[in-house]
Amino acid sequence: MTEYVGMEADGLDLSDSPDSEHDLRLLSLRARIATDIAEGRRIDMVLNDLVAAVEDHIAGAVGVIVSLVDGEHTRVLAAGTPPPITELIHGRPQGSWFGSWSSALTRQMPVVVTDIGESSLYRRHFPAFLQHGLLAANATPLRNRHRLVRGALVVYLDRARVLTPPEADVLEVITELAGMALRRDEATRDLLDRLRHDPLTGLENRDGLEELLRSALATVGTDGTSVGLLFVDIDDLTLVNDSLGHTAGDAVISTTAQRIRNHLMHADTVVRFGGDEFIVVLDRIRDIADARAVAERIRTAIAEPMEIDGQSLTTTVSIGITLGGATTPPLQLIDEGHAAVVRAKQNGRGSTADHDRALDTAASDRLSREMLLRKAIEGDELRLLWQPKVDLLTGKIAGAEALARWNDPELGEVGPEQFVATAERAGLIDQLSEWVLRQSLKEAHLFFEHNPDFAVAVNLSASQMARPDIGETICKALSESGIESRHLIIELTESILAEPPVIDRLRELCASGVRSAIDDFGTGYSSLAYVQQLPVQIVKIDRAFIDGLGADGGGAPILAAAVAMAQALGLLTTVEGVESHAQHVGLLTLDVMWGQGYHFSEPTTSSALAEMLAQDRSWPPLSGGE
Ligand code: C2E
Ligand code: CA
Ligand code: CA
Repeated sequence: MTEYVGMEADGLDLSDSPDSEHDLRLLSLRARIATDIAEGRRIDMVLNDLVAAVEDHIAGAVGVIVSLVDGEHTRVLAAGTPPPITELIHGRPQGSWFGSWSSALTRQMPVVVTDIGESSLYRRHFPAFLQHGLLAANATPLRNRHRLVRGALVVYLDRARVLTPPEADVLEVITELAGMALRRDEATRDLLDRLRHDPLTGLENRDGLEELLRSALATVGTDGTSVGLLFVDIDDLTLVNDSLGHTAGDAVISTTAQRIRNHLMHADTVVRFGGDEFIVVLDRIRDIADARAVAERIRTAIAEPMEIDGQSLTTTVSIGITLGGATTPPLQLIDEGHAAVVRAKQNGRGSTADHDRALDTAASDRLSREMLLRKAIEGDELRLLWQPKVDLLTGKIAGAEALARWNDPELGEVGPEQFVATAERAGLIDQLSEWVLRQSLKEAHLFFEHNPDFAVAVNLSASQMARPDIGETICKALSESGIESRHLIIELTESILAEPPVIDRLRELCASGVRSAIDDFGTGYSSLAYVQQLPVQIVKIDRAFIDGLGADGGGAPILAAAVAMAQALGLLTTVEGVESHAQHVGLLTLDVMWGQGYHFSEPTTSSALAEMLAQDRSWPPLSGGE
């Protein structure tokens, strides 16, 4: 029997003093690996280096590092052993352990086998080892931070022999370094684990949620199951915080967490998503009814009174429910759950709602749009472009219309027709009116030095005009800018004119000298006879009617009739959508006052417009071109 077991490494005879070159090599190995560990190099790379060092420093040796998973399965972390041997060692359940590493793990001390062919430890497997030329083995246990044996380093030798004292030194150093590397890895993992948990509830926090969902989603689909997500939100937690203090609020949160956990199956997980929000992931459920049943259990459990600080307290939760399949992106599932809980809350405290794709995507799109627009208005991120209005007779610029632009980095350029509607919904319409008025009058100063009669046109939507204080806003903007009211034209669509209070406001504005134009005329239902009774001075005929207009004034009969009637009623005329010189001449033939359109200029910046004015840019109608 040549096997002896239980000899501690430091019990080996080290009296043969090793030569200094050997010492140096060991020292440099130690320094190199220690640096790698300190710098956080990947554990598998460090261990592979250590296994390579075994071969470098011990003649005819190969090394393998084995660890324990869940306390009973082996995992090879790094191997210099031939693949068949490595496979033999890897993934062994405790019942079928064998060999030096198994003995080192169970006896928790170094194990020396000087002849594998003779060792009882290798009884069933020695032929494979002998076949690969592994004849002797030295195993040392590797300990974790709590000094528990969690792995082993085995050095196999190509001859049946014991290690020389210098070789034993090497083994000791390598063992020490491997232990260090494993402990460092363990500490890092622990830290990550702690970072992933919420100290108040002990639940995982949102950091690991995406990964958790991804792996849950990856396993469903083929068998018709789904992943259920419940977005649980405590109702009125701020009320508890405000009235009973944050300690009470914390107690409500941890009690809620506890109750949710108590009502889940083993495979289901609950994560603390935010302050008073939890996400429950239901693994492999059949359908939405299953998810609803769990939601209902949670809802009822939370509704039971809680004992907080000697007081009995009742809270409720709202729950949003959604299901995901193999192809659902994790983040989408979270968004859906969130949108559903927002809707649940709208239905009243303590309710649940299923995700409804149509309702929720529209709602969350809308919400984020509204948020972005609020940011844009408050952050002064909107811009104005100016489109010249040209006096058709002289061909000179008589004024310009301010057109708002919203260039959002995420949404791209959003047109005014859309964001005016968004502003209405978000309650931002007053801020928008104010911004457009103030900004356009501010920029308009650039224009007056070139044309003292310059007309500044600003669009106001029906909802903007419907605000009772719009008149005040306009007057205030004018007086702040120091611009006379005669310079300002407000462009209004016909729909506004049905509202009697709006008409009263218009009348006041008119009295103060501000002019108004009916925009897009012809697209609504109002007749000119009606417009004539209103405090409106200008009719701006929609670009839809200019099609077909020739230089002789023919080809666009509706336009011609509208212009003739407006003139008969004493209204000034503007036509929009002028895209050619022929149309310019045609409009002049019809005696239209102003024209606006791409033929003259697209909407452009205030500085570009000021430049045009400075250069006295004009489009003479009789020049045969521009
Ligand atoms: P609008 O008042 O009828 O403005 C004219 C629109 O026609 C502008 O579009 C302009 O770029 C476009 N346009 C100008 N010339 C031509 C042309 O020759 N051919 C063609 N096909 N189109 C031309 P924009 O800037 O997208 O404005 C769209 C609408 O949004 C405006 O229609 C106006 O009703 C509204 N809007 C613009 N700015 C504001 C604002 O500050 N406040 C409010 N409430 N509404 C605004
Ligand atoms: Ca307009
Ligand atoms: Ca228009």
